[in-house]
Amino acid sequence: MKLILPPHLTPSAFDRALRAFESVVGKQWLLATDEDRETYLDVYAPGDPAAHAPSAAVAPASASEVQALVRLANEHRIALWPISRGKNFGYGGSAPRMPGTVVVDLGRLDRILEVDAQLGYCVLEPGVGFFGLYEHLKTNAIPLQLALPGNAWGSVVGNALERGFSVAGDHSANICGLEVVLPKGDLLRTGMGAMTGNPTWPLFRHGFGPSWDQVFVQSNFGIVTKMGLWLKPEPQAVINVGIKLPQAEDIKPWSDVVTPLRIAGVLDGNVSVTSFQSAATIRTQRSEWYTGKDSIPDSVIAQIMAKYDVGWWNGTMRLAGFADVNEANLKVVQRAFAGMPQAQLQVSRWYQGDPGPGSPAPSVLPLQIINWHGGRGGHLGFSPIMPPTGRLVLEQLQRTRRRFIEFGIDYSATFYHSGRHVANVNLMIYNKDDADLTRRTRALFAALVEESAAAGYAEYRTHLSYMDDVAACFNYNDHALWKLNETLKDALDPNGILAPGKSGIWPQAYRDQRGRT
Ligand code: ADP
Repeated sequence: MKLILPPHLTPSAFDRALRAFESVVGKQWLLATDEDRETYLDVYAPGDPAAHAPSAAVAPASASEVQALVRLANEHRIALWPISRGKNFGYGGSAPRMPGTVVVDLGRLDRILEVDAQLGYCVLEPGVGFFGLYEHLKTNAIPLQLALPGNAWGSVVGNALERGFSVAGDHSANICGLEVVLPKGDLLRTGMGAMTGNPTWPLFRHGFGPSWDQVFVQSNFGIVTKMGLWLKPEPQAVINVGIKLPQAEDIKPWSDVVTPLRIAGVLDGNVSVTSFQSAATIRTQRSEWYTGKDSIPDSVIAQIMAKYDVGWWNGTMRLAGFADVNEANLKVVQRAFAGMPQAQLQVSRWYQGDPGPGSPAPSVLPLQIINWHGGRGGHLGFSPIMPPTGRLVLEQLQRTRRRFIEFGIDYSATFYHSGRHVANVNLMIYNKDDADLTRRTRALFAALVEESAAAGYAEYRTHLSYMDDVAACFNYNDHALWKLNETLKDALDPNGILAPGKSGIWPQAYRDQRGRT
């Protein structure tokens, strides 16, 4: 990738900044060739990757090197974009929001600092991956389990900072205590960690006074160099209740049945159902089913369902913990679904020591889906949050699916039910080399942002290109929260050096870049 300079910086000023960075990390860890820049592009970019092209990357080895880099960035007025392992696929990967920003790759800070099996927590550096932490737990026979994202290639810290979630729930909710480098280079610890030597840093969330952990989540107020994260004990037993719903409309009663089970804690974590298509996208290519340019029709949907023996919606409800409690909860679940005879439930049991679902292993198999159209694949997810009311969930499905059909994109969705809300992840898969398909995908995405906003909903997380659009949806009292975020940004980061544009938060220095994608 050819060099795209940061805005407002001359080539010689840029060069001076890079030389200064090199003096901190050494020649080897300043990555500024065309090939290096290519490495940090958004590999799934649904449009021109130059829209979010970094000018270089720099890889520090310690929090003090991060501090030194941040201080130099202020001196040289050059913007930085921190990544942990940079596998934020579908949301921008390792690329920055603003072209020309220098990526700070934290992959070398990869120590597992502490794991406490009794109290169920770990303290990690940002470069620790799900595979590495899983391996550590297994090798040392530590009976704790990881909350795993579908694609587990990335880091535990980066995923929690982006509010990744899974069947285990919202991963950012497990954060307890952060070490952060602030935009001017100061180092702080949040919560109880703000008191030197206090051992309750990873145990009590809030400390004294305002609670800051979540202020560093999905924000550009600091670079996280350590994270305390709560882990659950490996369960004594698991009952998996597979669920198959034959019709699209069955999502309505499903949602209403699940709400009280989740709120009462009978079902643990998120409960989800995914549409039929995931059975085919992970195993086959679209051309094996259909070659039309329109969204795959009902006749093909029926073939997919028949071949893989799946419903229109499919999922698993997980009862995990003590065997006798699980058995009692299973009866409650079966009673709750008795009034919904079309829901086909399939019960399977696991006990500690068996291979399988008690402690699921990380996997990258779901990445296989990007082969659906062939070519160089990619995907985008449009994920609004909505109330769990069955009627509203059905309306959301119908409204969204109509739009998929209008733009000729195959409908693929998951509804994650947390009890008090539903996250509706709509998956759009494309071949990056098919200009017409990527154009239609982007048009669909923009239409969904607008249409969901009209229904009163917005996304919980989004791709770099849509951060300004999604931030704009949060418009109560003339965007009062957005204004607070930018007031805070300017106070913490007067030179605007940290992740300009992240989550729609632009510093004074780069507000002229807002809306440019
Ligand atoms: P993962 O390693 O899980 O794939 P990424 O490194 O791609 O996650 O991080 C996703 C996003 O989260 C980044 O683009 C960045 O905006 C933010 N982020 C990741 N790590 C940090 C960090 N240590 N400090 C601050 N922000 C971070």
